[in-house]
Amino acid sequence: MSNCIFCKIIAGEIPSSKVYEDDAVYAFRDINPMAPVHILIVPKVHVASANDVTAENAASVARIFEAIPKIAASEGLVNGYRVITNCGEDGCQSVKHLHFHLLGGKKLPESMA
Ligand code: AMP
Ligand code: ZN
Repeated sequence: MSNCIFCKIIAGEIPSSKVYEDDAVYAFRDINPMAPVHILIVPKVHVASANDVTAENAASVARIFEAIPKIAASEGLVNGYRVITNCGEDGCQSVKHLHFHLLGGKKLPESMA
């Protein structure tokens, strides 16, 4: 997607603080961290949101969940963490490229909504 900021980050056209990359997945530090560790994990293929996961792109999404334990271990999140995706208007999704927030490094609030 030519006009997508996360596609541009994946392509290296916009700088990012990369923490992990493989053939299907890219992960980088959130520019506005909400916790001591706040990483965004995205599929390299453009998928707009959780609402746009299909049989064709689900394998890329699954690869994210294979990467998460590796990233969590490399960040030292031995005591746990939270994974969130915001979807659409009510979910307050601001970037329309599917991304999972990996949050940790402290005891997170119990409330999510
Ligand atoms: P969401 O509101 O779930 O769509 O999350 C989008 C996230 O992307 C926010 O937490 C932003 O801080 C983050 N973000 C936006 N632009 C950048 C960027 N260039 N580099 C790193 N994180 C970004
Ligand atoms: Zn994109």
